[in-house]
Amino acid sequence: MEHQRIAVVTGANRGIGREIARQLAMHSLTVVLGVRDLFHGETVARELAATGLSVMAYQLDITHPRQVEQFVEYLTKTVGRLDVLVNNAGILLEPDDDLASKVRMETIKTTFETNLFGVWHLTQALLPLMRQQNYGRIVNVSSGIAAFENNAAPPELAPAYRVSKAALNALTVTLAGELQGTNILVNAVCPGYVRTETHNLDALRTVVEGADTPVWLATLPDDGPTGSFFRDRQRIAW
Ligand code: NDP
Repeated sequence: MEHQRIAVVTGANRGIGREIARQLAMHSLTVVLGVRDLFHGETVARELAATGLSVMAYQLDITHPRQVEQFVEYLTKTVGRLDVLVNNAGILLEPDDDLASKVRMETIKTTFETNLFGVWHLTQALLPLMRQQNYGRIVNVSSGIAAFENNAAPPELAPAYRVSKAALNALTVTLAGELQGTNILVNAVCPGYVRTETHNLDALRTVVEGADTPVWLATLPDDGPTGSFFRDRQRIAW
């Protein structure tokens, strides 16, 4: 009998992450919401569970090495494997008019701490739980403004964020290459310009639409793509 798949979604207490978690649970996965604020996360988990979904919250600040270790120990002891990892947690600290030539080093370091190093550390820590069963889907939530080609974004648009997501894209390609020939697929996704409770209030795209492609990538069949960048279920240029 096939086991119920287990997914981890980081930054799942709000915004696109919460909706990715909800949609994955609708696909009959058991979803662990990785959250910085456990009180808030448990409230969200209760709300989703009340609709019949299989979800739980666990404290997980991806920049906090001890929390990453404890999280892996918890998963190892409770279920002993992982099927899906959605690296959704991300931060954008800069004002709209920041420039690469001026943005503060502190801002750059803090941005990279979450958007690259935290994702990288968590992925390394969880990969053994995928490797042992030779199944896994890793989805890195990136942004189209990180693309090198065909990018019409103005240069003053959040350079630390933009470069951190470009580095996340590079990690996606590198890890996918390393895992070629296994049944672990690794892709990056741009959710589009999405309206959340606190961000992009003028954006037309809803979290339901923004979560669609990440969830599609998280549930790809074994012959699905790996090492690519997607928006609206279509490949886009890096
Ligand atoms: P939100 O700001 O609404 O939510 C971000 C989530 O990430 C929150 O749950 C936040 O937790 C969590 N988070 C931040 N830092 C950490 C950390 N160190 N450890 C764990 N969790 C953390 O963002 P969105 O929902 O809008 O965006 C989700 C992803 O999509 C991000 O990676 C973003 O860069 C990307 N994206 C979004 C776009 C958009 O238009 N909205 C466009 C392109 C990409 P807490 O509540 O504790 O702060």
